[in-house]
Amino acid sequence: MTDPTQLSISEASKLLLRREISSVELTKATLRRIRATDETLHSFISVTEEVALEQAQRADVRLTRGESGPVLGIPVGIKDVILTKGVRTTAGSRILENFIGPYDATVTRRLFDAGAVCVGKLNCDEFAMGSSTENSAYAMTRNPWDQQRVPGGSSGGSAAAVAARQCFGSLGTDTGGSIRQPAAFCGVAGLKPTYGRVSRYGVIAYASSLDQVGPLGRTVDDCARILGVIAGHDGNDSTSVDLPVPNYADGLGAGCRGLRVGIPKEYFVEGMQPEVEQAVREAVMQLEKLGAKVSNVSLPHTEYAVPTYYLIATAEASSNLARYDGVKYGLREAESEGLLTMYQRTRAAGFGTEVKRRIMLGTYALSAGYYDAYYLKAQKVRTLIRRDFEKVFAEQDVIVTPTAPTTAFRVGAMMSDPLQMYLSDIFTISINLAGIPGMVVPCGFDTSGLPIGLQVVGRPFEEERVLQTAYAYEQATEWHKRQPAD
Ligand code: GLN
Repeated sequence: MTDPTQLSISEASKLLLRREISSVELTKATLRRIRATDETLHSFISVTEEVALEQAQRADVRLTRGESGPVLGIPVGIKDVILTKGVRTTAGSRILENFIGPYDATVTRRLFDAGAVCVGKLNCDEFAMGSSTENSAYAMTRNPWDQQRVPGGSSGGSAAAVAARQCFGSLGTDTGGSIRQPAAFCGVAGLKPTYGRVSRYGVIAYASSLDQVGPLGRTVDDCARILGVIAGHDGNDSTSVDLPVPNYADGLGAGCRGLRVGIPKEYFVEGMQPEVEQAVREAVMQLEKLGAKVSNVSLPHTEYAVPTYYLIATAEASSNLARYDGVKYGLREAESEGLLTMYQRTRAAGFGTEVKRRIMLGTYALSAGYYDAYYLKAQKVRTLIRRDFEKVFAEQDVIVTPTAPTTAFRVGAMMSDPLQMYLSDIFTISINLAGIPGMVVPCGFDTSGLPIGLQVVGRPFEEERVLQTAYAYEQATEWHKRQPAD
């Protein structure tokens, strides 16, 4: 048989069900692939070989008994901000270098109960703060299409690993684009669900009103399978919503005849890479050919999204990260020198530059005297941004946009200019502020051979329609079939 790591989840799943391959074989091939490629790519912070082989054996027992399931026996990777019981979870930070998850996150548990096999924990920007994975305390993940380029971030490991066939699918988190932008940069599919669709229990918090877990995969179908497993109400997360979970994978083929597609004019900005704009415009024509009705729409408050997001996200982060004080868990420095010194030295040694910058920005925005001018104001603008979407969705079924203004940038290109880095989130963060679902699929390549991603945005809890639209586009095109050269 050809290299099984080439298969999509749905293809591998068929072979597993027919017992033409075992989960152990699939897992061994995946681990071999990781060993052969990860010394240069650095997608993983930890490779969990033993856990994987044990889970694969158990999956094989279930398969032999005749059980089936969307991810049963399939090797996946998990972003290292998501807890895994007994396995190190670092959030890409020194402060959690030796932190072992005391329990499984709900998403982890659901994946494992469904028989997925965890091959490792994936690299990310420290506490998911960043757009390039360069803020990881451990390694710089490389883009599999060009190793001089970043994979995007913060779920850069999750996207690079899927693109490089180091796992069949992965979990990422998306607070301000962190699933979708790396999916676009690495030429894979990725979906950020509606806020509340997926439990955040056991997910290391960055900005709690924005964080969502979602799938990355090589195909839309693969993302649908993973989403179906992880979505749904969880009593351990009061923001998770009690709505039925559709069978996303079975409903994919609905097509997009008659679908009303809005194209927001604010998402085609000056300075964006012309090839990105062209690829997205061609994708829109493709949707039209498939029967969609395309209209130009406006989301007038888009220009305020970046400042609004960076106020809210940093404010929430400064509060969430107060818990890393050397007392409860993680790193502890200067233990014998008094409480205050211990706090200070622990946090000074444990956090990286970008995390410190965000804590300071967020603390400032929340401080007495500035709260109304910054945090409160940002909350009000957030409402205006959400209303922009509500208005458009009164007349449109989905909104289609580019994912990022450029393709993957060079390693180091933006590290000295944080503002420039923040601006690269311009097309993704409004969707988090509005709390709505967004999905990315490959829609072309630039002249350097770097992938371009199309973003499909939907109404709250209409992941199904978003997936159907992305699927119709994917099935009509060949972009998702290209793979980075070894
Ligand atoms: N790049 C954004 C940030 O640094 C988004 C990160 C994310 O979605 N986790 O905040």
